[in-house]
Amino acid sequence: MAEIVISDLEVGYIELAEAVMSWGKTVSPRGMETKEIRDMTVILRDPQRAFPIMTGRNAREGIAAAEAMQLLGGISDLQQLKSVAKTFGMFSDDGLTLRGAYGPRVYSQVQNVVKSLTLDKDSRQAAAVIWRPDEISGASRDVPCTVYLSWNIRNGALNAKTHMRSNDLWLGVPYDFFAFTRLQYAIASALDLPVGEYVHHVDSFHLYATDFEKVARLAVDSNTFRPTPLPWLSARAAASQEQPLVTYNETDSADFAVSYDYESLKVITASNTFTRMDQDPISSVTRITNLQTTAVKLARGQYPLPAAEPDDAYRAERWFAEALAPHVTEGRLCDTCRYVLPPWCFEYRSGPCRRCK
Ligand SMILES: [Zn+2]
Repeated sequence: MAEIVISDLEVGYIELAEAVMSWGKTVSPRGMETKEIRDMTVILRDPQRAFPIMTGRNAREGIAAAEAMQLLGGISDLQQLKSVAKTFGMFSDDGLTLRGAYGPRVYSQVQNVVKSLTLDKDSRQAAAVIWRPDEISGASRDVPCTVYLSWNIRNGALNAKTHMRSNDLWLGVPYDFFAFTRLQYAIASALDLPVGEYVHHVDSFHLYATDFEKVARLAVDSNTFRPTPLPWLSARAAASQEQPLVTYNETDSADFAVSYDYESLKVITASNTFTRMDQDPISSVTRITNLQTTAVKLARGQYPLPAAEPDDAYRAERWFAEALAPHVTEGRLCDTCRYVLPPWCFEYRSGPCRRCK
């Protein structure tokens, strides 16, 4: 059991690596040697600085942006992840989707979390569960590493906590800290609160023996610092009245018969949007919904960037748009299961996702 307080992950990542190398005990799950700290708690004082940019880790912004936007948007787009790093394909059972993807699992829960914290600012019930009871059946290649997420408001700021059963320092930590703190910022933005601290608790915090040498080469390098602040989804995006999210690409309409259900969906979505416009000020739940919609659009390359405004919000949106621009896929988002199906998938052409009918 260990607890480490770091001010940021930009440099603090090295402290975490040193901790695993010095305190970790050797265990070999599935026959692969690791050093492991059991019950590791990392307290991150400044959740804005949650990407190890000054350590020589060379974590990829494309992966960070895609995972963060898919988590916030509540979607899973395997093709986009594969376009950033082919290895994501190894975790798919059907070549199309990732069963354990966090986005679809937390999408509606996040809206309830915001509602709960709006109604009772001292609430202890703001939690979202990712793990499911049938997870350890052994039937999937993609078993979620995260069990649950929780949030609370104390001293007027929004704290966040992630509980993972397992976390790999080399491959997982850089992207997990980034994604979960972006979600923290989105929820804080919806509640119009500042961000407090981020707590990351892991049952098995580990490093594979194959990465020991890489970790030994990590060193603080301030030359790799980016002059712009690391981004979060802006309050402006949360407040903006977005057009309803179009589930299917307009350009595809010639290729398949537009179903009655699809037309109904458009009417319902449009009327929901107009209802929201009557609310002034807009509710926190509407704000988080708008942020989720913005995240989907950013992930899919459909978010129009505003004219140049050199403020933090503009830089944040720009950062994500640039990181994701080479990794946009043309799949179709199913509104029910929230998986993005690629054009070469049979279900892509048959209207709403068949699995959900
Ligand atoms: Zn579906």
